[in-house]
Amino acid sequence: MKRILIVVITLTVILATVLNIPGDIKPIEPNENKLPPLPTSSDLVNVRFFDTAHFQTPEAFTVAGGSIFKTIEMIHGAILVTHGSDSFLFDTGLGESVDSQFEQDMPAFLVPFMSYQKGKSVLAQLRANSTLPKPSKIILSHAHWDHVSGIMDFPELDIWVTNAERNYMKEEGPPAIFPSQVSSPDIKWRTYSLSADDYAGFSDSLDIYDDGTAVLVSLSGHTPGSIGLFVNTREGKRYFFIGDAVWNLDGLEKSRSKFWISSFLVDQDKEKTNAIVAKIIALVISNPELIIVPAHDRRAWK
Ligand SMILES: [Zn+2]
Repeated sequence: MKRILIVVITLTVILATVLNIPGDIKPIEPNENKLPPLPTSSDLVNVRFFDTAHFQTPEAFTVAGGSIFKTIEMIHGAILVTHGSDSFLFDTGLGESVDSQFEQDMPAFLVPFMSYQKGKSVLAQLRANSTLPKPSKIILSHAHWDHVSGIMDFPELDIWVTNAERNYMKEEGPPAIFPSQVSSPDIKWRTYSLSADDYAGFSDSLDIYDDGTAVLVSLSGHTPGSIGLFVNTREGKRYFFIGDAVWNLDGLEKSRSKFWISSFLVDQDKEKTNAIVAKIIALVISNPELIIVPAHDRRAWK
């Protein structure tokens, strides 16, 4: 039965790719949304990238119009943002217990499409290097299994999720949300709402340190409570971590949505997701210095 399902899914994917169902993002009017000036306290800020696992996938699965013959390297990672004496993680990548979580909660027919090569968890990397700062909290871009896998590795930390995402987590199950990762009563959830303060054209935001260095914005669409994170660093770099709004940078460069089957499987609201992508594209046109980091495109992780 499992084998038949895999064959059916594979054939459907190949057929859909051959048919090349278009996924053009409808452009919005070029906007004049400028990033605010680099805040002076960005002197306090730096960003570290943690690579926790890899996977390979045909390009066609990641972006509309991608090649079925070209395999690309993807990443599961986490970001550590440091602001003076404080630090926080943005997502966790794959954690210490990912194998048992995956075995317990990933539906069997999806296992061949979702497999990964495990590297070192964030916890292991922090333990191996005592000079690295310890995070005081974890902020989730969204609650999909490959972003939250490591939260139980840090039982002492508050886990920040938007109210909308927390409600979504209570309604959803595998393959999006893994009970093995989020159902422990010991997890210290800290729910929050964004306020109606515009940041670079995103109407709902939260300025984490009240100084413009690290700002959360709503990217509702991929999941109801998805957020993005702007970070301004001491080197003058301006990052925008966009979670899973796109999987592949080509989606932004070529104005393409995810491959339609992938989008059907993972985007809770495809229209809203594509509207967010159109907004990000317009923002980059107005602010070419902005470095966009999708959660899984390895090319953006340096
Ligand atoms: Zn996701």
